[in-house]
Amino acid sequence: MTSRPGRLVLLGHPVRHSLSPLFQNAALRSAALPLVYEALDVPPTALPSMVRELVAARAAGNVTVPHKEAFAGLCDRRTALAERVDAVNTFWIADDGALMGDNTDVGGFDELVRGTIGRTPTACDVALLGAGGAAAAVLAAIERWSAARVTLHNRTRERAERLAARFPVVSNVADDAERAVADADIIVNASTVGLRDDTHPVPVTALHPGQVVIDLVYRRGGTPWVRAARACGLVASDGLGMLLEQGALAFERWFGLDAPREVMREAVA
Ligand code: NAP
Repeated sequence: MTSRPGRLVLLGHPVRHSLSPLFQNAALRSAALPLVYEALDVPPTALPSMVRELVAARAAGNVTVPHKEAFAGLCDRRTALAERVDAVNTFWIADDGALMGDNTDVGGFDELVRGTIGRTPTACDVALLGAGGAAAAVLAAIERWSAARVTLHNRTRERAERLAARFPVVSNVADDAERAVADADIIVNASTVGLRDDTHPVPVTALHPGQVVIDLVYRRGGTPWVRAARACGLVASDGLGMLLEQGALAFERWFGLDAPREVMREAVA
């Protein structure tokens, strides 16, 4: 994009605990950009009118739970990745006035995995827990890896089957989380288990030496599941690295500048 946004926002419901304003405002200050990143609590029924207001203000921003899928339907144009995931987490207004949507969660997940194991995995078995929007972004990333296969488990099996039908990289839908993780090299929690309490998406007693644990849920100091996995000697990361990278990629879409990733990381350290 060429023209600077008139406003920078995060749309969610509720958004009060989001860390994004912390690191996006640190990035704006560091780049001397005269904007403030505002978190807007928008109930689903108010999303279309809010989007009209933001288009008129030539705003840019992020979209979070529960609006990512609905927002995708309101965009004039979407990137190939946003089409693939069928969800938008980053938007801006093009010079011709079109509302543009992208999905930087995909790149955020890739970076989280690279940061955890030091490379993009190849020829691996992944167990993916959850079948919502975050799981779709994870699958859009994994299908670009070489020779990866995914076993998918979700509380509601029909939802897992619908997602598996969209992503051929899913080779198996499992009814049981423990069975899903049994032969996996990498285990990814893309469910909301552990978001509001300390529950584990799968007991650590079901994990084996050598498995890598990735939790999209994030918490300063690591989620209880990640800390328990590390205590068992496993390599494990929570979702903070993904959150930071999806934000850094969004910053680059909005401003056409390299994101100050170190500044962003320090803002939430
Ligand atoms: P979503 O679309 O609402 O999907 C929620 C998923 O969690 C569904 O698969 C749901 O299963 C499952 N679930 C909810 N409660 C459960 C329970 N008690 N037991 C088992 N499964 C349960 O949410 P989303 O957007 O995909 O987000 C999922 C998670 O990823 C959230 O915790 C979110 O914070 C995280 N996330 C992190 C990042 C990051 O940057 N780190 C980015 C995106 C998302 P059902 O289908 O059975 O309801």
